[in-house]
Amino acid sequence: MASNGGVDLADVPSVDLMTELLRRMKCQSKPDKRLILIGPPGSGKGTQSPIIKDEYCLCHLATGDMLRAAVAAKTPLGVKAKEAMDKGELVSDDLVVGIIDEAMKKPSCQKGFILDGFPRTVVQAEKLDDMLQKKGVKVDKVLNFAIDDTILEERITGRWIHLPSGRSYHSKFAPPKIPEIDDVTGEPLIQRKDDTAAVLKSRLEAFHRQTEPVIDYYTKKGIVAELHAEKPPKEVTAEVQKALS
Ligand code: ADP
Ligand code: AMP
Repeated sequence: MASNGGVDLADVPSVDLMTELLRRMKCQSKPDKRLILIGPPGSGKGTQSPIIKDEYCLCHLATGDMLRAAVAAKTPLGVKAKEAMDKGELVSDDLVVGIIDEAMKKPSCQKGFILDGFPRTVVQAEKLDDMLQKKGVKVDKVLNFAIDDTILEERITGRWIHLPSGRSYHSKFAPPKIPEIDDVTGEPLIQRKDDTAAVLKSRLEAFHRQTEPVIDYYTKKGIVAELHAEKPPKEVTAEVQKALS
């Protein structure tokens, strides 16, 4: 049978092939959507993204996840990004715009995308607009994960992530079935090096100074929906669904 990316499809269990086929058939009837999730660190963007992604058949592009993968693999991009990330500062606009431009070409982005953690500066937002304009498309909706800073320290310091997939857990609010183990793969979870109270301070400062103006940028375009991100996860999901319906 035909092979694809080094995987012989004859080796893939029939149930997996059927599930993927059904998923693709269901996806064909979904409208295209291009979404941006904006919010401070810990506001719940990464928690809601997989739910939106599955519902609308979109790709989930989280610049933080991509940069962490590059740092772990010690690629030239990762080497350039590491210092700023460790300090809780933003990496340069050109670095992240380049990775987003490349990532959007993936077949999984055919129906649209969820941008999580990008754009984080007005320059990035302008460059994204240029990029999309060249493709003849535009951003449909910006979900603003509005939340008070005081709630974020407990969320950030209790966060555990599965590095390969970006899945996040919380020791108190969303614990894995077995402590420090990913529910899906059984692999170990890690705590991010920048998920400390001290680094959170710089990350929040960067958010207020550099990213909040991005919310104003899209508010002027009339496409922002504000969520109550302090609510429990299921209630936030309900608000997301309402905003996208
Ligand atoms: P972000 O991607 O915006 O940085 P995450 O989705 O990773 O944030 O959430 C940060 C932490 O808070 C995670 O440990 C997650 O399990 C937890 N969390 C996410 N949403 C909620 C919520 N609505 N209420 C309580 N905890 C949450
Ligand atoms: P996050 O996973 O979204 O919390 O991002 C982790 C870190 O990656 C940030 O503190 C920044 O150093 C860097 N980063 C992620 N996305 C961007 C972006 N769009 N622009 C600049 N830096 C970013």
